[in-house]
Amino acid sequence: MDNSSHIKKINKILVANRGEIALRVMRTAREMGIKTVAIFSEADRNALHVKYADEAVCVGPPPSSESYLQMDKIIQVCHDLKVDAVHPGYGFLSENAIFARKVTDAGIIFIGPSPEAIEVMGSKLAAKDAVSKYDIPMVPGTPKAITDVEAAKQRAEEIGYPILIKASAGGGGKGMRIVENAADFEEQMNRAVSEAVSAFGDGAVFIEKYITSPKHIEIQVLGDTHGNIIHLFERECSIQRRHQKVIEEAPSAVVTPEIRKAMGEAAVNVARACNYYGAGTVEFIADENLNFYFLEMNTRLQVEHPVTEQITGVDLVKEQIKIAQGEILSIKQEDLQIQGHSLEVRVYAEDPKNNFLPDIGKLTTYKRPQGAGVRVDDGFEQGMDVPIYYDPMIAKLVTFGKDRTQAIERMIRAIEEYQIVGIETTLGFCSYVLQHESFVSGKFDTNFVNKYFTPEILDAHNLSEDAQQKEEQVAAALVNFLLENKQANDKPAQQSSNAKSNWRKNRV
Ligand code: ADP
Repeated sequence: MDNSSHIKKINKILVANRGEIALRVMRTAREMGIKTVAIFSEADRNALHVKYADEAVCVGPPPSSESYLQMDKIIQVCHDLKVDAVHPGYGFLSENAIFARKVTDAGIIFIGPSPEAIEVMGSKLAAKDAVSKYDIPMVPGTPKAITDVEAAKQRAEEIGYPILIKASAGGGGKGMRIVENAADFEEQMNRAVSEAVSAFGDGAVFIEKYITSPKHIEIQVLGDTHGNIIHLFERECSIQRRHQKVIEEAPSAVVTPEIRKAMGEAAVNVARACNYYGAGTVEFIADENLNFYFLEMNTRLQVEHPVTEQITGVDLVKEQIKIAQGEILSIKQEDLQIQGHSLEVRVYAEDPKNNFLPDIGKLTTYKRPQGAGVRVDDGFEQGMDVPIYYDPMIAKLVTFGKDRTQAIERMIRAIEEYQIVGIETTLGFCSYVLQHESFVSGKFDTNFVNKYFTPEILDAHNLSEDAQQKEEQVAAALVNFLLENKQANDKPAQQSSNAKSNWRKNRV
């Protein structure tokens, strides 16, 4: 097919987002010769995405409801500045079908899927229903919202406890309740419904079997507006706190080529079920035998997309933009291959010793790691404040290696190099995880944090790192001392270098 007749060239993109993802999108736009417009709240006046963009407009006060979520204001900026496309990033308005529709109705391109696809996949129950005509494995449960408590209890009995009550409109790890036995069922269900109503404005809840040792594995997909859909392999995202990801990698250490193929095909079918176009992610949960089940589809660019970019060499934002221009996918499934291994750690302004609660403040020291195989996607600089109004993620630290071992080694080294003073971060916690034998072996699940992590462990880990550093300093001092002595007494050099290794070897 001729790829040029249906192309609508994008000349100026407004990025309806902030922080690292706004910058990330603008960088690719610039590479493609596309002008960029930033929007910002009063709290972000000096933010990097504002400085990077060709034009920038303040859209309101700091709370996102008064700025980054102001659909009509954002569309007005598009008209004022003759913007022809909007990239929503992730979070904020990215999965808001009303916004996607408003943008399209205003004659502007929405860089993302159709409003219909966003709508279907935004409801976990509607999504399950949409994919039901394909042979997609599902977690045993109820296919519809619970209306009859007794019938639901009966179903829970059949599935077997523990079960999970989930809000259909839930997201971000919220709206889930584990029920251990029949006696607790009714009370937990009532709580789940009232929570779902207050958090999501939709009380629909359903049941799923609670997979006790689950791995979270997701597949990146890309679809064009001509019906072509491909997948770009998996990302393993099982290291989570509060049901939210903190370390991701691609490929997974345990997925075999056969499982990868089956998961990839299932993901493409999920996308097909909602006529998907753009970049999207199909999430699966896998049990200890790697039986996998469809969880949900995220209809946007995912935070952890860089690990896929590293192992495939595909710039996902560039593909999103090309698809939005109406181009036919230039990548074929058979062209794609996994090269090397990539890891991402999310650097959150959070205190792992205080239940991962946000710890915002000024970045009095902020120095990024560098060197081979290191990519940092961030939106901060030294001296900046981490605002309280938004997600507390400061950066994504991504490493790439020829294999998993090298990617891990580089990540541990990069974490050591990263200097952040002024706030607590998840860096030390991530370093602990990466050195844990369960992570190294690949045999971990979403229970990692509950199973292996306590704040005291982190203290011990930091202490042993400090101790090691101190030992190395002492050893270095000892070598210097011996070298100086050697020069003074003309002793053989051999002796001094041995002094270090023996000293290291002899310690307990
Ligand atoms: P959200 O939309 O809130 O992200 P998901 O359905 O994607 O919700 O689930 C988020 C996380 O919750 C998963 O990665 C997994 O850790 C856990 N989870 C979800 N469903 C189950 C289940 N049936 N059994 C065990 N854990 C689950």
